[in-house]
Amino acid sequence: MDPIVRMLETVLDDVRGRDAGGVADYIPSLAAADPERLAFAVVGPRGRVTSVGDDDVEFTIQSVSKPFVLALALEELGRDAVLARVGVEPSGEPFNAISLEAGTGRPANPMVNAGAIVTSSLLGEGDEFSRAETIVAGLSRFAGRTLTVDEEVYRGESETGHRNRALAYLTRSHDIIRGDVPTVVETYFRQCSVLVTVRDLAVMGATLAFGGVNPVTGERVVREDVARDVVSVMASCGMYDYSGEWLLRVGLPAKSGVSGALLAIAPSQFGVATFSPRLDRHGNSVRGIQILERMSGEFGMHVFEPHEAIAAPGIRIDRSEGRVVVHLGGELAFSGAERMIGVLSDLADGAVTDDTILVDGSELARAHPAALELLRRQLEVHGGRLHFLD
Ligand code: GLU
Repeated sequence: MDPIVRMLETVLDDVRGRDAGGVADYIPSLAAADPERLAFAVVGPRGRVTSVGDDDVEFTIQSVSKPFVLALALEELGRDAVLARVGVEPSGEPFNAISLEAGTGRPANPMVNAGAIVTSSLLGEGDEFSRAETIVAGLSRFAGRTLTVDEEVYRGESETGHRNRALAYLTRSHDIIRGDVPTVVETYFRQCSVLVTVRDLAVMGATLAFGGVNPVTGERVVREDVARDVVSVMASCGMYDYSGEWLLRVGLPAKSGVSGALLAIAPSQFGVATFSPRLDRHGNSVRGIQILERMSGEFGMHVFEPHEAIAAPGIRIDRSEGRVVVHLGGELAFSGAERMIGVLSDLADGAVTDDTILVDGSELARAHPAALELLRRQLEVHGGRLHFLD
């Protein structure tokens, strides 16, 4: 058996028997969800999707749509225009709280409902169907397949969503929301009712983990700076009023939804998604949290844990008659440049007087201009004996 499948299955088996929490019950179709459903998927850098459990069961995306709609808005309007209407501060309050900034009326962040409704209002034109179509098309590009709306869940959301309407009208009173409130709110309900599987969510997450490029389709969905902005907001605000403790314990940007979905991003490594409908008091999937806690711990995925690769670009040194060639690989950032400067000084000091030292940066997977500049300066220190190829 594939070792990744086996590992994912072992983790699922460990949490399967845990039955704490309850399913969301504010609309009949969510209350009817089978609480035993359990699924887990990961997508790595080469776009390989590995999944176990109920991985073909569809459920509604709910609040996990929020980071992706934020991404679409940032891509289309730019950071300043979006931040003029919605903040990026954790609210520390439940998702449906009235978290509006005093004075401006900006919602605290795009992961709470008020902020998500405003972000949703920034996309598309016309009635709720055509606005929602724009959003669903964008979500589909993240997922790499055409997604659809569950009309029954949508009707339930619309029939019960009075608090969301009230939040939207409050933002209207501050002139923050774009467009007609009833249209925007119905669009938001359709957005929450988009059907996905755990595999879709993992692909969507992987697209953010790999800088905006869907690793399955190869399509660039959003710019790299947009993906980074969204992942940052997920890190501070993605798990409702459990976001701070989640960041401390699991250390992965994430977003959860009331249907039991949980999506986590390991930047440059994986998109990870789980589905298990029983929720804790914050609205987060109980077993989803257990799975991610374990995965992050066992694989050292916490983003604030020391990660070696960036401090150690690959270095291979070839010596031949009168020539030393230093081949660089991997990523060259500040710490790598600092390390390389030491290596180059040692080489220059130890080399026979008329040796030429050549630094070959042509195979670097990623080089930050400021780090390259540091290396170039070091080359100047050693006069004409050091050359740089990029
Ligand atoms: N449709 C839900 C709402 O806006 C989404 C809630 C959630 O997943 O947090 O109330």
